Amino acid sequence: MEKYQLPEGMRYATLEERRKFYTEEFDLEKVAEWLGNRISRLKFAVIIGRHTRVFPEKYREDADTTIIIDEYKNLSEVREQIVEFLPESAYYDRNVYDANDRKTGQELAFDLDPENITCPIHGDLADKMKRGQGLSFCRLELEMAKSQALSLYEYLEKEFSQLRIVYSGRGFHIHVFNEDAYRLKEKERREIARVVKEKGFAIDEWVTAGEMRLIRLPFSLHGLVSRVVLPLEKSELPRFDPVSDERCLPRFLRV
Ligand SMILES: [Zn+2]
Repeated sequence: MEKYQLPEGMRYATLEERRKFYTEEFDLEKVAEWLGNRISRLKFAVIIGRHTRVFPEKYREDADTTIIIDEYKNLSEVREQIVEFLPESAYYDRNVYDANDRKTGQELAFDLDPENITCPIHGDLADKMKRGQGLSFCRLELEMAKSQALSLYEYLEKEFSQLRIVYSGRGFHIHVFNEDAYRLKEKERREIARVVKEKGFAIDEWVTAGEMRLIRLPFSLHGLVSRVVLPLEKSELPRFDPVSDERCLPRFLRV
């Protein structure tokens, strides 16, 4: 088995790079547009340094913790808290809550990650884990995740009309914005996850089933690969290359 880490040019972002990104580049208008009218009661979350072990010294104890951000007046205050933590990853909670903080629904989502793809060179996830490379992936796996995202989108189009694709920094997410999808029961979500998995899609079933309720925040920085999380049109997916596409390159990587 060949040794590998990440496609060329992808690497951990330093704390200073995270700071520069979130103070100078993080596009709150686009974030607001993505979240729409959910913003008032939405919970955000960050992980400071669980995988990268890159964290501000004062947060050493909390480097692994999922920190929930739910006290803020507006997105600028969310940004301030992100800049305080300088996290490797930022998420939002797909659960929808009422005024009494009771869960009333959940955004349906599908997560296709390259490490879940069985690679002809690097094997399956179990092989990768055995070599301590559970978070590594290669260009071939990225391409395979992309073509899976496209077929999964086409499969889901038969059922849902409001689909969005997001380049997650590693793989791809498909979000379903249809009203009825928010109201699916847990059992129905598990069933959808099972069927999609059986069709051969390398999804993380936890995300679709709803147990993992956090999803990466579009337009945030994925600190393990130094890429901006980017919503894409279906039509641009075939030619999309996250290694070189300027839109997902933070300024500190542009020359
Ligand atoms: Zn591979």
